[in-house]
Amino acid sequence: CLRSSPGSTELPPVLWEDIGGLEEVKVRLRQSIEWPMRYPEAFARLGLRRPRGVLLYGPPGCAKTSLVRAAAASSRCAFLSASGADLYCPYVGDSEKALAQLFQQARRCAPCVLFLDEIDSLIGSRADGRGGGVQTRLLSVLLNEMDGVGLKTLERRGAARVLQAEGEPETSEQQQESDFLEVCNTDVMVVAATNRPDCLDGALLRPGRLDHIIYVPPPDQQARLAILRVRTQAMPVDGGVRLEELAAQTERFSGADLENLCKEAALLALLEENMEPSAIKHTHFLRSLSKMSPSLTAQQISSY
Ligand code: ATP
Repeated sequence: CLRSSPGSTELPPVLWEDIGGLEEVKVRLRQSIEWPMRYPEAFARLGLRRPRGVLLYGPPGCAKTSLVRAAAASSRCAFLSASGADLYCPYVGDSEKALAQLFQQARRCAPCVLFLDEIDSLIGSRADGRGGGVQTRLLSVLLNEMDGVGLKTLERRGAARVLQAEGEPETSEQQQESDFLEVCNTDVMVVAATNRPDCLDGALLRPGRLDHIIYVPPPDQQARLAILRVRTQAMPVDGGVRLEELAAQTERFSGADLENLCKEAALLALLEENMEPSAIKHTHFLRSLSKMSPSLTAQQISSY
């Protein structure tokens, strides 16, 4: 179980401050994920219902995955993640089994953030007929899993109430199971991400499922500056490097593009100064930039 290692077992946890810009999105994620996972009693005291699922959507390379990892780390809970490719199995029925097992694992690790990346490739929409049978069956497993934990809890509670009404005390085993399901019900948060929200089946977005929907926009100039600052923080950057200027020159660059620009500039400095550069200079950034183009298109950005 991943509980002993908040954030992720394989990757170091991402901190909120590792993500440049996106301040409003960070606040919304803290409210939707971190607060209810960390302070469930405070939510219960105020009669606030905790969201069951969150959907992040927006263009590629703009920090959706990083944001979920930061939210899981700051919630101090386990983090399980899978994408369509991870769950795809060539044999009929195996992908569905893998998805159901992932939910089981998440319940065992609870409190847990269960991240489903590129959910459109996993599930898509029944309406567009893409992907055929396996996608429809995976959607049905996902809907059952998201609804099922709560239903089982209600059933168990209902059974316990009937027994008590009949004067029979609940057995410790029944009590344990109902406590376990109660915990599961509140302690697995499903977070999904997609670049193509239009391809998702409407059933997934109903109340009680992925009902908190958050747009993660491409970085504007101010956010690009914040990302460049974060990404160069640990680098020996020359005092003459003008990050403001670079932020202005990188329209339609995603966060991933900006990270790449910083890496390329560092590699160029290494190459030019025989592996012993004293600092990365503004010209290294400019020359790297001249060889790159933005990965986002105006059409793509305006489609959200
Ligand atoms: P995709 O949709 O392709 O899965 P994504 O939106 O999930 O992408 P991430 O995987 O979080 O994006 O980010 C890709 C890379 O870009 C990561 O290495 C991340 O550190 C960097 N990055 C993206 N946006 C930012 C940002 N705002 N601040 C710092 N780094 C960023």
